[in-house]
Amino acid sequence: MELKQLYREIVNEHNLHPVNKKKIDSPDLVMRGVNPSCGDDITLSFKIKDGVIADAGYEGSGCAISQASVDMMVDQIIGKSKDEAIKLAQTFVGMIKGEITDEESIEALDEAAALQDVAHMPARVKCAVLGWHTMQEMLENPEKGEK
Ligand SMILES: [Zn+2]
Repeated sequence: MELKQLYREIVNEHNLHPVNKKKIDSPDLVMRGVNPSCGDDITLSFKIKDGVIADAGYEGSGCAISQASVDMMVDQIIGKSKDEAIKLAQTFVGMIKGEITDEESIEALDEAAALQDVAHMPARVKCAVLGWHTMQEMLENPEKGEK
């Protein structure tokens, strides 16, 4: 299977069968992220225990790229410390902007690396980074959250 085809299937799979689109019990952090240019609208909720993201989920709606991206993100960050999650968000955004291209950094993103091609689709950049930007904002400024 061609790599691009495989990537498309990963994105499709997360969009059609999201695993992390759920409410979680008594979240510690909640933040909404909106991308008006496309209509993507997500709300993240995280449970933090001892500085580690113990559980996470999201709700909302939007295009396939935004939804698949946030679903993959949540997969990646459960069990990570806040700092590790912020670093992953920086790597992801860097990859989407085409600023980070070295394989080692991108490998850390696991399945989310499937969105690397979005770097060549400027109109979709905001869709792809929505969840990651929202997460970074929420972890760095917990007081801005809705909870
Ligand atoms: Zn979108």
